[in-house]
Amino acid sequence: MKIIMYSVLAEEKPYIEAWAQKNGHEITQVTADLTAATVELARGYDGIDIQQTIPTKDPVIYQKLASYGIKQITARMVGYEMLDLKLATENGLTVTNIPAYSPRAIAELGVTQAMRLIRQLGYFDQRMANGDFTWNNMISREIHDLTVGVIGAGHIGGASAQIYTALGAKVIATDPVYNVELTPYLEYVDLDTLLSQADIVTIHTPLTAATTNLINAQTLHQMKSTAYFINMARGGLVDTDALIDALQQHEIAGAALDTLADENLFFEHQVKPAQVPADYKVLKAMPNVLITPHSAFFTNTAIKNIVEIGLNDVVAIVNGEKSLHALN
Ligand code: NAD
Repeated sequence: MKIIMYSVLAEEKPYIEAWAQKNGHEITQVTADLTAATVELARGYDGIDIQQTIPTKDPVIYQKLASYGIKQITARMVGYEMLDLKLATENGLTVTNIPAYSPRAIAELGVTQAMRLIRQLGYFDQRMANGDFTWNNMISREIHDLTVGVIGAGHIGGASAQIYTALGAKVIATDPVYNVELTPYLEYVDLDTLLSQADIVTIHTPLTAATTNLINAQTLHQMKSTAYFINMARGGLVDTDALIDALQQHEIAGAALDTLADENLFFEHQVKPAQVPADYKVLKAMPNVLITPHSAFFTNTAIKNIVEIGLNDVVAIVNGEKSLHALN
């Protein structure tokens, strides 16, 4: 079988090559994203495997893939909002994602950043860079005294709840789905209760029409002025202007962001200062805001699982079998 993989990272190559050798399939790796301009690269292949957050909704992409005889698009990632499932279905393409490749990878970065925030390390770094080695007004709290609010207790939110519980924090969560397996680690509450009680608010919902700007001026206002907000999920869950406003008005104490609504302009790229969006610059200048470039998933365990689960799905669907990860 001939498979083309788009947006291949250097770190994926050893796992791709090991999988290809073990399973006896031919894989072409390209670094380009799948777009209307690059879809031609897929001509002559049996299967396609992508990984990107840029919108991939141009009908031409789906029509051309179908015309090449391709039957699927595997998105080797959790979020798949960049794809158009309706167009995929209309063109006979089965879309799969990887619902869980290492929830711990994302959960662990969120917890790490939360710990950095509560120990005010951004402020200490800034002061020490200016020759101020005092700890005046820098008294911190301890994680086991705090309440963590998890919005969206799925794979990643659930893993986060388990880590925070292990650290001694109280965990409350809001999710339309009640998962009895998580009850040793969290207590379900409604969103209003969560926002008003949590010292750390960590969001792990998918980005949908219903969750877009779920964190907005009103929900930020409901949080404690001492609360930290953690977003390891999607930038579109947050009204960035409202977040900046809330930070400037000290309505919340700080934030850690692995995703930004406009991240496609610069995350994962090397850009000149002029190309960096203004909202990032404002946020980055605040010592109580920690930003990472959508790197929460980037661990060796996650990359190995991403490669292997995605390629197994390509083979299954091309061979006419079912994948547990089919989305349409
Ligand atoms: P998941 O589907 O296992 O869990 C999402 C949970 O959110 C579900 O339990 C769902 O019921 C809940 N939910 C949906 N709408 C809600 C709402 N309005 N309020 C409260 N809860 C709601 O997904 P996951 O694997 O935990 O991933 C969550 C998100 O994390 C993904 O959709 C993706 O966008 C993001 N993600 C980010 C990275 C990264 O590197 N930063 C990596 C992987 C995933």
